[in-house]
Amino acid sequence: LLQLFMPLNFLGFVYREIRRAVTDLENMLGLLTRNPSIADKAEATELQISGGCISFQQVSFAYQADRPVLHQLSFAVGSGQKIAIVGASGAGKSTIARLLYRFYDVQAGQILIDGQDIQTVTLESLRQAIAIVPQDTVLFNSSIRDNIAYAKPDAAAEMIDKAIDMAHLRDFINSLPDGDQTQVGERGLKVSGGEKQRIAIARAIVKGAPILVFDEATSSLDSLSEQAILSAMRDVARQHTSLVIAHRLSTVTDADCIVVLRQGHVVEQGTHQQLLAQAGEYARMWQQQAQQKK
Ligand code: ATP
Repeated sequence: LLQLFMPLNFLGFVYREIRRAVTDLENMLGLLTRNPSIADKAEATELQISGGCISFQQVSFAYQADRPVLHQLSFAVGSGQKIAIVGASGAGKSTIARLLYRFYDVQAGQILIDGQDIQTVTLESLRQAIAIVPQDTVLFNSSIRDNIAYAKPDAAAEMIDKAIDMAHLRDFINSLPDGDQTQVGERGLKVSGGEKQRIAIARAIVKGAPILVFDEATSSLDSLSEQAILSAMRDVARQHTSLVIAHRLSTVTDADCIVVLRQGHVVEQGTHQQLLAQAGEYARMWQQQAQQKK
């Protein structure tokens, strides 16, 4: 009976390992291949990055023909600057990030990076230039360190360590029994929403892309986690052109430009101080959030 049991036990182990590998792969592909209709044009060229300037020019978009989501949207962000998109739930904020990464193509207008229409460049060069910190990050069944290095498995050890420091993960990692070798993912240590987002920030730093898109988590974080994420983002933003999809206005007060969206229209644009002085939609939202905090 033992002779029969041993191979069966071994097969069970192999099966579990294969299933794990497939799950990891599915997670990864799910992130990368949302829309098969997006492909390189025959004459596509490599995106040439000079500073990472982003410009949306009269961009319109709808997921379904009869329900427009973005209407003739225009805004620009200069090299190394931070632009924040704010607005009510469903206003179209995340859609902007999806269009920049070309999960979908615009139906009218253009999106330019350093003067090149993103539809004329190769998808690979476009996506190499952009690192995304998503709302909800998928952690693979592996160590924290592997998870951070996942966008660039050949990253130098110093680069990964620098990313850990910049994402303010050092104290958290030092508090774990196995340090950065601690296993995370479905089968490993449970990490909080805030820690997960900082792992995603570290991942984005390791990728070394000039443009950073930060899709802020909608779920409310405790104020300590929020502060840790904020300071991580501030450090990172200094070295990137960043686009922040914001759900809390407290995270955007230092932006070079804040774009206020209402039902897919840009209704206001300016710095925090300029928008407060306008006493319009942004100022109302600011007051509302201040009241909620009381
Ligand atoms: P939130 O703050 O809740 O994340 P948002 O401002 O980011 O919202 P989007 O996710 O960009 O809003 O969605 C804008 C509109 O597009 C919403 O009406 C939404 O229902 C719709 N929408 C989003 N994704 C899809 C999709 N894949 N298919 C069809 N409609 C979609």
